[in-house]
Amino acid sequence: MLPLQQTYAEALPELSVPWRADLPPDPAILWLNESLAVELGLDPDWLRGPEGMALLTGQIDGTVAQAYAGHQFGSANPQLGDGRAVLLGELIDTTGRRVDLHLKGSGRTPFARGGDGKAPLGPMLREAVIGEFLHAAGVPTTRALAVLTTGERIAPRQGVTPEPGALLVRVAASHLRVGTVQAAAWHHGPEVTGRLVDHVITRHHPSADGPLGLLAAVTGAQAELVAQWMLLGFVHGVMNTDNMALSGEGIDYGPCAFLDVHRNQAVFSSIDRGGRYAYGNQPGIALWNLSRFAEVLLPVIDAEDPQRAVDAATAVLEGFEPAYRAAHARGLAAKLGIPVGAASATGPAGDAIPTAGHAAAPAAGGDDVTALGADLFSLLEAQAIDHTGFFHALTDGDPEPLFTDPDPYREWAVRRETLRGTGPDRASAADAMAAANPVVIPRNLALDSALRAAHLGDPGPVLDLLEAVAEPFAPVPGREHLEGAGEGGDDFLTYCGT
Ligand code: AMP
Ligand code: MG
Repeated sequence: MLPLQQTYAEALPELSVPWRADLPPDPAILWLNESLAVELGLDPDWLRGPEGMALLTGQIDGTVAQAYAGHQFGSANPQLGDGRAVLLGELIDTTGRRVDLHLKGSGRTPFARGGDGKAPLGPMLREAVIGEFLHAAGVPTTRALAVLTTGERIAPRQGVTPEPGALLVRVAASHLRVGTVQAAAWHHGPEVTGRLVDHVITRHHPSADGPLGLLAAVTGAQAELVAQWMLLGFVHGVMNTDNMALSGEGIDYGPCAFLDVHRNQAVFSSIDRGGRYAYGNQPGIALWNLSRFAEVLLPVIDAEDPQRAVDAATAVLEGFEPAYRAAHARGLAAKLGIPVGAASATGPAGDAIPTAGHAAAPAAGGDDVTALGADLFSLLEAQAIDHTGFFHALTDGDPEPLFTDPDPYREWAVRRETLRGTGPDRASAADAMAAANPVVIPRNLALDSALRAAHLGDPGPVLDLLEAVAEPFAPVPGREHLEGAGEGGDDFLTYCGT
């Protein structure tokens, strides 16, 4: 049997409980991520065999359920944790990176509260598709190693027919969340919090200096992550602090979706009635979550002088906005074919997060790119234009036919031309656009209908989608149906949170 490690559970025994997954009645692999398996050093044939199946269904020793807390939709919830999941353990992959193997849908744990501990097939496949796409698009993310059916049928979540029960085997840099540190601080105090901080630094941000350095590193990583989501039109949907990973990976894709028509206030989650986690709110919410992170770090930042701790943490948090703007400007420049130099930044803003390692000095030009982007997004919204479709058409050469009133677009295009310049790097920036603007994204309606088919027993469409989103940047014969603009999706709602 594969030896998995549990360095986290050993270092922080207060924050997990030994727990074994339920034995599923009739487990079967629906999708195995063979390329990820190979990266992990796991032989796909072995995984399909009896020992591999024992691993994938959690029938191994040493597994734990992790405790965490969190702010959900703005309210503190001290008692969360893996209610329907276990941490199988850690392994070192073929590149030397330590990763968690985690199993979702594995039955009730001591953290289950009222829940049944089960996971329906649709949401587990959704999480797999979203993770594969984001990974292929170069965005830090947890990924699915496998999706299995358990052989059970489980109670309907949203008043529909019972769904097949499923397991998601997830690979992540770790499952340590802002909510993990909140749990340490709220239930255990500074000693455990300090020990957790040390563990997170060693594991994820080794150049960070102490808790303040960790705050800076996580701030920088989240600024980068959310900037990339925004550029792709991704709406996470449930940015609670327990769904924000300290590694900087995106995690817990429940009722998430991609923009079709560009809309700043787009909300796709049926549980987000107030629109707290709308597309355009995501950078502000990331900072809000980081502020909750900072609060629980205060006692370990400076135990003697609370005001000094607050001042130091505030200074670090003030670095979020410039870091976000720099990351967004850099990514936007790539999407618009504007040479990189024009989007890199100068000035004091770039130094605001000293140890984050991300905030490349913004730009002579960074502000111009930001302003150009803001006007573009207003234009897309005003004329109800597909987010991904616009950038794809721009990469191909001419998005003008997308606009019902082309005049404002033409004016915008002139400004873009100015920023592209006539220098030698213009051509390479144009080439780079193809690597920044996907042709295929997991479109809401396509994903939904694929998940419905899987629910009804036909996994074909979702398997095709998993293959397509793993190569999102070039048109592929036979995939034309996945390459067009969406159908608007203003009223699209996803219920896949549970
Ligand atoms: P999520 O909305 O998936 O981020 O989960 C929020 C919290 O609810 C976590 O503590 C989950 O473990 C828990 N949870 C979600 N669904 C279930 C379920 N079916 N059974 C038990 N716990 C659950
Ligand atoms: Mg969660």
